Amino acid sequence: MIQLKEHSFREALQNNQLVMYYQPIIKVENNSVVAAEALVRWNHPVLGFLLPGEFISELEESSIFFDFFVWGLRTACIQNKSWQDQGMAPIRVTVNISVQLLRHPLFVQAIISTLRETGLASNWLELEITETSAMQDVEQSSLTLNQLKDLGIKITVDDFGIGHSSLNYLRNFPVDTIKIDKSFITKSATDKKDLAIIRAICCLADDLGLEVVAEGVETLDQLANLTMLKNCLVQGFLFSEAIPAQAFFEHYQSSFLI
Ligand code: C2E
Ligand code: MG
Ligand code: MG
Repeated sequence: MIQLKEHSFREALQNNQLVMYYQPIIKVENNSVVAAEALVRWNHPVLGFLLPGEFISELEESSIFFDFFVWGLRTACIQNKSWQDQGMAPIRVTVNISVQLLRHPLFVQAIISTLRETGLASNWLELEITETSAMQDVEQSSLTLNQLKDLGIKITVDDFGIGHSSLNYLRNFPVDTIKIDKSFITKSATDKKDLAIIRAICCLADDLGLEVVAEGVETLDQLANLTMLKNCLVQGFLFSEAIPAQAFFEHYQSSFLI
């Protein structure tokens, strides 16, 4: 892990060094793109192109985490609205959020203002929360997430299955989508246990009326197992990695689909 100082995060935000890439989420059943996950990248002036694994945890612990969130949310909403204005069939944009945000007094207001300013309808925004993050304060998290739900915003539980509290999460929070962690998908073509777990999650989601996304689909063998499952959306390098917004716009109708 590279040691990066707080001021360089601030500089990154001020000097437009951060950029959002987008990865498609696909409904195989009818070969359509239903959503795009916004994933940040950093064009660092000295270190080059950095992926979130190299800086995101430090950034989220820094004093600019809220400014970063607002930047990411705004960027994704502006982009989605712009795609719609350019005639692309409407899709949801999903934005990853960190744990501290659910307790931040300005969190919900920032989302309301951003939607208003950008003109994106709330049903085209989805927030991705990792399992381990929200459980730290169930009452507060639940209150905040219900406020978002009332606004028409969708909630995804990201990296589902690897945290400590998956089922509690579904019981306490107004979840719309379960995103199965990619570690289950990776071995699903060869490991019966992983495939059984994926099947069970899909059954549970079906009973609860939730959508499922299988994340990290890289091979046709993995895809073959997943397409047999009802309502399973897929995301992974088999279709596309995260790419710049313009490339997403150019490719969304054809190249993502296999
Ligand atoms: P995540 O939200 O679980 O995002 C999925 C990660 O899996 C992305 O990595 C994506 O590029 C990668 N991925 C997708 N399909 C495949 C595949 O088929 N194979 C493999 N090997 N990887 C695949 P990325 O972009 O490096 O992001 C890593 C994590 O950083 C994200 O995990 C998310 O937790 C966090 N992150 C990214 N952007 C943001 C952001 O704007 N805000 C916040 N708070 N966190 C972010
Ligand atoms: Mg995510
Ligand atoms: Mg994930």
